Amino acid sequence: MDFEFTQEEKEYQKEVRSFLQREVTAEAAHEHHSGEGLGPHSRALLRKMGQQRLLAPTWPKQYGGRELSPVTRFILSEEMAYHDAPYPLTFLEVAGPGILHFGTEEQKATYLTRITSGEIEFATAYTEPGAGSDVAALTLYAEARGDTYVLNGQKTFSSHAHHCDFIWLAVRTDKTVPKHRGISIFIVDPNTPGITVRPLHTMAGVRANEIFFDDVVVPANNLVGEKNRGWDYMVGALNYERGGTVGDLQRPFDELVEFVAERRRAGKITAEDDWIAEELARVATELHIARLLIYKVAEIQEQKGNLTYEASLGKLYASQVRERLFNVAMQILGPYGQLCDWSKWIPLHAKIQKLFLDAPRWSIVAGASEIQRNIMAIRGLGLPAK
Ligand SMILES: Cc1cc2nc3c(=O)[nH]c(=O)nc-3n(C[C@H](O)[C@H](O)[C@H](O)COP(=O)(O)OP(=O)(O)OC[C@H]3O[C@@H](n4cnc5c(N)ncnc54)[C@H](O)[C@@H]3O)c2cc1C
Repeated sequence: MDFEFTQEEKEYQKEVRSFLQREVTAEAAHEHHSGEGLGPHSRALLRKMGQQRLLAPTWPKQYGGRELSPVTRFILSEEMAYHDAPYPLTFLEVAGPGILHFGTEEQKATYLTRITSGEIEFATAYTEPGAGSDVAALTLYAEARGDTYVLNGQKTFSSHAHHCDFIWLAVRTDKTVPKHRGISIFIVDPNTPGITVRPLHTMAGVRANEIFFDDVVVPANNLVGEKNRGWDYMVGALNYERGGTVGDLQRPFDELVEFVAERRRAGKITAEDDWIAEELARVATELHIARLLIYKVAEIQEQKGNLTYEASLGKLYASQVRERLFNVAMQILGPYGQLCDWSKWIPLHAKIQKLFLDAPRWSIVAGASEIQRNIMAIRGLGLPAK
């Protein structure tokens, strides 16, 4: 087993890292942590990355990519997360590969270079009030009428719907076949008459949205790939989305270690606080394991292998490490950790409290932990499905 990046991958990592060190402004980092999604500073940053062809390293050159190895995708998400930059997961990992693999030539020409140049953002809208873990039960219906489809129904928990340029939408196009076989994907302009977007905020202030569709008319050529094959497209993309990163955990972890080291040097953390070093060592080990599980996904993609449970295992484990890290951080900071950023007594910085409150989200998005365990049990361990 080779744990080293290739020379080409190292060079890409160096280029992305030095770009981000130079270009991520305090405003872009603030937008990233605000939970409100891509604002003007984040978009400006993405456009600059697009100009340098940094955004889609694995994509074909004809669409603005570099045709590098799948590992570079993980390098990109890790570096962006580490440097507080907004990783555009939806359009790079969901809509983008979906269009690249299954879109018509016209759709490829319309969207792909605009994605790699950082110009446009997609929201993913799969989940409905009655279809989350069992997302194939979705009911938003698209009725064919001439050369259009008319959409009626509701989506919920759509992360970027309030600032996106397009919605990557899963709909039901056939009610008479088994549920997985009657789903299609459409690309929808969020400004189409009949669409209403309403906010839903998590306890950490991260915004998602409900989207209501009331007789929304969409051109038939906005259908992606084949009608009723949407489920296959969704499952493939979920493996990309679950690939994930621990880059955004490494940065606060490094800062926490530095904070503890300084307090130790100043004599404020004594031998009685040995548990702190023990906990930090444990989280360091787990971070290392999580990164390897995530790179395993990249390796399988590189070998053109079939992903079965690996992305789920990486996602599940990384979400557990996230909760443990911020739990430990809050214990170390004690009651001061709960202070908001206007307080002069705030230790480290206000980010930790927000990250602590935000950690449980990661055990829900892109499929809840129980579902990842089910996938592991059935596909990883070979246990019979119920
Ligand atoms: C902040 C946020 C952002 C999101 N962003 C998006 C987005 O951009 N686009 C999008 O489409 N979706 C998005 N989601 C939706 C997310 O994918 C779903 O919330 C998730 O799949 C769980 O679905 P649910 O909320 O309906 O919970 P449910 O499916 O109702 O599950 C409730 C509980 O029951 C458990 N459970 C359900 N079925 C089983 C089972 N078979 N075995 C064991 N346990 C089970 C679950 O694990 C969970 O603990 C987002 C969610 C959140 C919270």
